Amino acid sequence: MQKVSLDAGFTCPNRDGVKGFGGCTYCNNESFNPAYCDPKMPLHTQIDEGIKFLQKRYGAKKYVGYLQAYSNTYKPLAELKKIYSEILGHPEISGLVIGTRADCVDDAKLDYLAALSAQHEITVEYGIETCNNKTLAMLNRCETFEEVGETIKKTSMRGIKTCGHLIFGLPGETRGEMLAEAKIISALPLDFIKLHQLHIVKGTVMASMYKKTPELFSLFSLEEYLDFIVSFLELLSPQIVVERLFGEAPPAIMAGPTWGGLRNDQVLNLIEECLEKRNTWQGRLYC
Ligand code: SF4
Repeated sequence: MQKVSLDAGFTCPNRDGVKGFGGCTYCNNESFNPAYCDPKMPLHTQIDEGIKFLQKRYGAKKYVGYLQAYSNTYKPLAELKKIYSEILGHPEISGLVIGTRADCVDDAKLDYLAALSAQHEITVEYGIETCNNKTLAMLNRCETFEEVGETIKKTSMRGIKTCGHLIFGLPGETRGEMLAEAKIISALPLDFIKLHQLHIVKGTVMASMYKKTPELFSLFSLEEYLDFIVSFLELLSPQIVVERLFGEAPPAIMAGPTWGGLRNDQVLNLIEECLEKRNTWQGRLYC
C-alpha cells in the first residue's frame, strides 16, 4: 500500500493573512511534493501519474490518496466534498489521508469526515510540531498546542483516524523538553504519529535565520538523533503507530543537516540496529 501525493491547490490561513503572513518559518511545501504532483493537472491525472511512479519504484499494488501540501480542509465544505469524492472515486484509490491545521476544521467538516470514514479509510493528519507554545510562537505557527490538542480530541471522538506530526530539534528546545513530549503526546487520542528531525529547507524564513544566527540552532547529528529517537520511542505509548521516524527532503533544497546523503532505508536500518543494541522497544518506559 502506498500513498499517492496529490495537490488540489489549497493554501493555508497562515499564509493568506487570515491567521498570519509568510507561513511557518520552516515551511516549504515543495520539499514534499513529488514531481508527478502538480496542482495544474486534474486530480485523476495526478493519481494516474503517481500510481505509475509508485508501481515502478516500489511495486505497489494498492493506493491511498495523500493531500499533504498546505492545509487540505481550508475550503468551504461543498468544495471539500467535491475534491474528496473525486479522489475517492478513482478506481485504484482505497482511502484518503488529509493533512491540515487544527484551525481549518469545524464541527460541520468533522461530521462530514466522520460520515466519509464510515465508507472509506480516512485519516486526518494534524501538524502539532511541538508541545511548547513559546516555540510555536517563534515558528509563527499562529496556534497553540492546546488548540491542536482539542481538535485532535474532537476528531478522534467522531471515530476518525487521527495522526499528528512532531519536529525535534527546534531552536531553544532541550533534549529533556523533547523527551517530555512523549508523555504529553501519548495522552492524546492519536492513532498515528510522524516524527521528524528539524531540517532546514532552502528558501524558508528559517534558512535565512540559520544563515544569520547559526548559534541559535543545534541541529541533530545522525548519531545524536539515533540515540534521541530510541529514547523517545521508549517513552511513547505502544498504542500509537509510528508512521515516520525521521524526515528526508531532496538534498538539492536542503540547507542542513544532510547526514551524508544517507537514504531512507539506511537510516531506518540504523534506528533498528540501535533499538536492538539497547535491547529496547517502543513503550518500554511508558507509564
Ligand atoms: S507548515 Fe502548514 S500551516 Fe505552516 S505555513 Fe506551511 S502549510 Fe501553512
